This record gives sequence, structure tokens and C-alpha cells, in this order.
Amino acid sequence: MADVYYSRLITFVDGELRDYGKVYLIVKEGRVWRISKDRPEGKVINYEDFIIVPGFVDVHTHLAQIDVRARWEPNLLRWLERYIFPTEMRFQDESYAKEKAEEFFKELLRNGTTAAAVYSSPYRKATDIAFEIASHSGLWIIMGQVLMDLNAPSELLTSAEVAEKDIKYLSSKWHGCCGRIFYAVTPRFAVSCSMEMMKRISKIASARKLYIQTHLAEQEDEVEKVQEMYNEYGRYTEVYFHASLLTSRTIVAHAIYLADEDVNILKETDTAIAHCPSSNFFLHSGKMDIFRLKSAKIRIGFGSDIAAGPYFSMLEVARDASYTNKISPVESFYYITLGGAKALGISEHTGSLEIGKYADFVVIDISSLTDLDATKEEILSSLIYRGDDRNIMATYVGGRKMFGKS
Ligand SMILES: [Zn+2]
Repeated sequence: MADVYYSRLITFVDGELRDYGKVYLIVKEGRVWRISKDRPEGKVINYEDFIIVPGFVDVHTHLAQIDVRARWEPNLLRWLERYIFPTEMRFQDESYAKEKAEEFFKELLRNGTTAAAVYSSPYRKATDIAFEIASHSGLWIIMGQVLMDLNAPSELLTSAEVAEKDIKYLSSKWHGCCGRIFYAVTPRFAVSCSMEMMKRISKIASARKLYIQTHLAEQEDEVEKVQEMYNEYGRYTEVYFHASLLTSRTIVAHAIYLADEDVNILKETDTAIAHCPSSNFFLHSGKMDIFRLKSAKIRIGFGSDIAAGPYFSMLEVARDASYTNKISPVESFYYITLGGAKALGISEHTGSLEIGKYADFVVIDISSLTDLDATKEEILSSLIYRGDDRNIMATYVGGRKMFGKS
């Protein structure tokens, strides 16, 4: 049995923005089976007053920080101590961990996000609970327990040995589960990780083909601190390189303060970058130069970076990206759909609406933003500069409606 949706469909296909006009999107077994101008037989779900676009991809966000969004403190290291460490400690409580994970994945869907790379909390049990809930959400989730063995309150610290055991336990249970859930080895950043632990966990990531995610060069204070701690290894990027953390399955967030040597290392290792413009605005971290990384042909996606980024909506993140760097809304739209999927290495399956890919899509009401006859560029411009969660009518993952306004 196929499901048929009628709507104007706008998506990137390869490098091109494509406007199919009003078409029938035919979905079979969770995948796009056909896109047709001709009405097929059977029931049609009519979305002709809306548009359909691919589900959004958030390449960097923190589940455990959902309760402390928009808490003012523009210094990263102080913000971590004041708000983030205390809120992450609460995840020792399993009922709180469950409640927050449910809220978090619901919020992703309500905002039209269908794939995300997520930092859980520093606790194995809470991360296990989060995976369990993610596995029922239909979402593409790449996630990992946050690891620190230095420079944080003792309740949040692990050791290289325990970190290794936790990764083995959680990745055996969840990596590859349902075809959409993957494990990411997640050292928070070099400031809170010993070289011993980073080396040890990168080995497991390599042996088990796991993702790796971490933060890189977000603020100047942080860069200086890493330089003090790890002077013998050279620059910040070289510290991660030395620990074998930079791979084609690695996503590093921010990457603002980079020298040309750093860019070369990221390029040579095929590391992807999570650009988080809303977070960078909020913490006054500085401006990530997207053109420089683009010209080095580094894979880039956009991240909401909850809680330093105040909002889940990738439309708002895309808007901030268009303010930070002079990139068009069409290009921003690319980064929150197909570009993000490429950064996460899942673009064969999602990120655009093409035959054979999963039917991961969002139904959007643009009537309050522009008229439906506007060009595709005008629609995306209105959507990105004025749109947010209020415009999302329904979110489908793998052909299943996982969020819908009645
Ligand atoms: Zn982050």
C-alpha cells in the first residue's frame, strides 16, 4: 500500500534546488517511490495549501541542556560551570532523564527536524534511556554519552577505563539499531579530556566504526587553555589529530579560531564541521568563516547547539547563518537539509526528497509568510527570515507521521 500526498514540493537534488510545483508524492514502505504530476488511484492526503520540504538536519545539539536554554553568561567556561554542569548532573535521576529525553525528541519533531547528532549527558544509564526513547521516535539519531575526565565537578567525571566500558556497552546495544540510530564517541572537548582517554576512546571508535563528535575552537579563552594544557602537541586541532579523533566519521562543532594548518588537517582527515550560528551569537563566541571552510571543501552542516543556541528550529538557525555570513537563504536551506545529511554521512538515505530515499519530510504552512505562487527562492527567503516552529504543520519520518497539528 502506498501513501499519497499532494503538495508543492521543494527540495535540493544533488547541488540544485528543485521546485516540482504541485505534485503527488507517493510513499511506499517508508521511502519515496514516485513523484508524479498525475493523480494516482486511491486516497490522497491533500496538502495543497502548504509546501513539502525535506526534514531538517541538526548536526549538533545537547539533549541534557534542554532546561537551561537562554541563560545569559557570555563566557563559555563560566557558562559551563554556572549552568551546564549543574543541569547535566540532574541526569543521574532516571525519571528526570526519561522525562527530558521524551521532551527533547518531541521538540525535534515539532520543529521539523528528522535527523540529529546529539550529546547526551555524562551518564550511561541516562544515555541508554535516551536511546530507548529515540528508537521509538523514528528519527535519525547519532548520539553519545558525554565524556570528561578532567576539569569538571567530580560527579560528572569518568576515567579512561570506565569510558571504554560504557562505549562498548552502549554501542553494542544501539549502534545501527533500527537502521537509524548510531553511536557517537563524545569527548566534550580537549579542556575536559586527558590525552590518555582521548586516545583510548578513538581506538574503540575506529574498531567499531562509530561516529565521533566533539567541540573545537569555540572561544579564545578555551583555545588558550588547550594550548596551556597540551603545548607539546601543538595547536588545538593537532591535539585531536594526535589522539586520532579526526576521521571521516567525526563532527566537530564551531571551528571558529582556526589557522590555515588547522583547516588543512580538517580537510585531510575529512572531518565534518557543525556550524552553530545561533549559539555563536548567544555566547558571543565570534564568527565562523563559512567561506573559508567551504573553499577547502570541508563538509558543513548547521547545528542548533541547544542550550547555547536558544531554539530548536533549524529555520531560525539558518536565518542566523544568513546573518553571520553573507549566504543566501537558498544556501542556508541546503545546509539544514542535504548539506547536513552529507555532514552526517547519511545523504544516501535522507536530506532530500528523491526516489528511493526515506520519506523524511515536513509540511509547512507559509500562508502567513508569503503567497503560494511566489518563486522557490522567494518562498525560502520568507521561510528562513520569518519562519519558525509555528509554521510546521506535520513531520514525517520514514513515511510515518510523527508530529501533526490537528
Ligand atoms: Zn555544543
